[in-house]
Amino acid sequence: MKPILAFNWKMNPQTETEAAALARASDETGVIVFPPFPLIHVARENLIRAKLGAQDVSVSESGAHTGEVSSKMLESMGVSLVIIGHSERRKQGEEDGLIVQKALQVARHGISPLLCVGETAEERGSGREEEVVTRQLRAVIEALAHEGLANGLMVAYEPVWAIGTGENDTPEDANRVAEMILKIAEGYKLSPRVLYGGSVTSATASRYIGKHSVLGGLLVGGASLKLQEVRNIIVEFLL
Ligand code: PEP
Repeated sequence: MKPILAFNWKMNPQTETEAAALARASDETGVIVFPPFPLIHVARENLIRAKLGAQDVSVSESGAHTGEVSSKMLESMGVSLVIIGHSERRKQGEEDGLIVQKALQVARHGISPLLCVGETAEERGSGREEEVVTRQLRAVIEALAHEGLANGLMVAYEPVWAIGTGENDTPEDANRVAEMILKIAEGYKLSPRVLYGGSVTSATASRYIGKHSVLGGLLVGGASLKLQEVRNIIVEFLL
């Protein structure tokens, strides 16, 4: 099975012109592009084969919530996945309760949550990565399963200390945690794709996905903003 490549643009690029070029370079079956909200329409216009994602969502349906974006809006834009629980949002105070509400909100609109889970450096240092990931995952999976909405769930294991730092988890450790995620999901009769994320580049991607890996793809941040990196990764894994 070919891997899924999820490209998280974060708060980039800064112009519509750059976004259009990046979307065109990323447009391949198996890719999901996650632009910032103001550039979603540019990405949509330039994506034929790749899927369109979003980086966040409101917990509310509609109404007086300045700055927020609803699931219904994302649904009408053709968004098929939303990143939920990214560590950069958890760092701003998002906790499991809010993350669960966001996951439910998108799933109720037929959009799949891409749930990010992962431990901090301190948690890894004290050997608590499995405990942390289990807590983060169970909170969401339990709530989705309770409403019969867990089928579309996708999970990204992203050790916080590896995101945007240039540090990489070992493929062995990434697979160990991914196996644990799959085992927990199995308890709910689910077999979600589990992606790995954390400073992955075209030079390191093949360590994580391949014959001997349970990982089903990659969540790529920084490297997804570089045209040549995007081309290299797509050529290596999707063509
Ligand atoms: C991410 O945004 O989830 C991510 C993994 O970023 P980077 O590849 O830059 O570490």
